[in-house]
Amino acid sequence: MIDVIVIGGGIVGLATALKIKQTNPSLKLILLEKENELAKHQTGNNSGVIHSGLYYKPGSLKAINCIKGYHLLIDFCKQNEIPFELCGKVVVATSENELPLLENLFVRGQQNGLENLRKLSQGELKEIEPHVNGIRGIFVPQTGIVDYKLVAQKYGELLTNLGAEIKLAEKVVSIKSETNQSTVVTEKNSYVAKLIINCAGLYSDKVTAMTREKVNYKIIPFRGEYYKLRKEKEYLVKNLIYPVPDPNFPFLGVHFTRMAKGGVEAGPNAVLAFKREGYKKSDINLGELAETLAWPGFQKVAAKYWRTGFGEMYRSFSKAAFTKALQKLLPEIKEEDLIEGGAGVRAQACDRDGGLVDDFLILEETNIINVCNAPSPAATSSLSIGETVAALGLKRF
Ligand SMILES: Cc1cc2nc3c(=O)[nH]c(=O)nc-3n(C[C@H](O)[C@H](O)[C@H](O)COP(=O)(O)OP(=O)(O)OC[C@H]3O[C@@H](n4cnc5c(N)ncnc54)[C@H](O)[C@@H]3O)c2cc1C
Repeated sequence: MIDVIVIGGGIVGLATALKIKQTNPSLKLILLEKENELAKHQTGNNSGVIHSGLYYKPGSLKAINCIKGYHLLIDFCKQNEIPFELCGKVVVATSENELPLLENLFVRGQQNGLENLRKLSQGELKEIEPHVNGIRGIFVPQTGIVDYKLVAQKYGELLTNLGAEIKLAEKVVSIKSETNQSTVVTEKNSYVAKLIINCAGLYSDKVTAMTREKVNYKIIPFRGEYYKLRKEKEYLVKNLIYPVPDPNFPFLGVHFTRMAKGGVEAGPNAVLAFKREGYKKSDINLGELAETLAWPGFQKVAAKYWRTGFGEMYRSFSKAAFTKALQKLLPEIKEEDLIEGGAGVRAQACDRDGGLVDDFLILEETNIINVCNAPSPAATSSLSIGETVAALGLKRF
């Protein structure tokens, strides 16, 4: 019998599987991924930022795992010769009313143990990012950039070297749980295993529902669209330029990111995706959309934040409006400097009462561990989340 089945070949599933095999190489482990390749979804379409842990509530799983995961990731990249750069980032306040929020962020960074954070005057800001518009800022030296697809592929390679099997193009369609084992049925095969670990990202709620009658959260997919700066305009951005986040919507607010694989991206926005893996505006899955709209929690979020949602939607359809949002940070940028970039879809868990689950969420049952919510900074934190989930799983052997 198989000991562990991990569902999902994104960075969280791969890191979890890797930690299990590194700790107990004798366990028989397989990882099932529905696509023909690893890291095709959130992991392969993110901003590529190695987050420092600046934003997160001290003591939260995000704060703990981001800071620990940050160091594990950097060591991993060094050991495995994966290119990365710790270029630092600036967080920029563009108006007086953002100054208290900027100050709060500085305090939070210190509470989270970040060293050498620097408050920046307007002049100091210009020394780091000469084209930025801001009245004050913070410099975060720890922030870096990396290509998470390369990282995930490396986790996969090491996992295979340790004797685990990665099975691609194996979509899990049902799970039957009994007292000491579960049967996982895919579109091609069925497998019996002692422990199942669900790391299905945008479908984590669907996989959770395969073994639970009532699931109290739903994944709401938010598409984040990017533009790229034309090559001749890349000089406008040295490294990473971020706005002061709105505490109600920490993942909103377009920013500029120099990418590890080259180029500078501007974005992303956040619009409701009409399909969980819908990377284009025209991608619609009526069943999935109807489920989202019918979810009581989503209706509450929509009723409360419709204005913000429409703003994001408007920027999605109007390049002029998107450019205007970017000009807040970089006034020189013009519409013609931006070319269409890619898009990623965030898996955001939303509970029945309309709470967008902020922290990482892991639910344990007898034979199954569900990683229910692993939004940003889960890529940065992957080795630490992997260690946490692996430890929960290994207790059973
Ligand atoms: C636009 C965007 C920008 C981001 N920027 C950053 C950043 O800069 N830094 C950072 O740290 N984090 C960032 N994040 C967050 C980070 O990318 C994700 O938190 C992380 O990739 C989640 O990894 P995962 O393995 O949980 O999910 P995924 O990478 O989505 O992997 C889940 C996998 O499960 C598979 N799967 C689903 N259902 C099934 C099934 N039934 N059977 C088999 N397989 C299945 C999917 O095909 C997929 O490969 C960003 C995310 C987005 C979307």
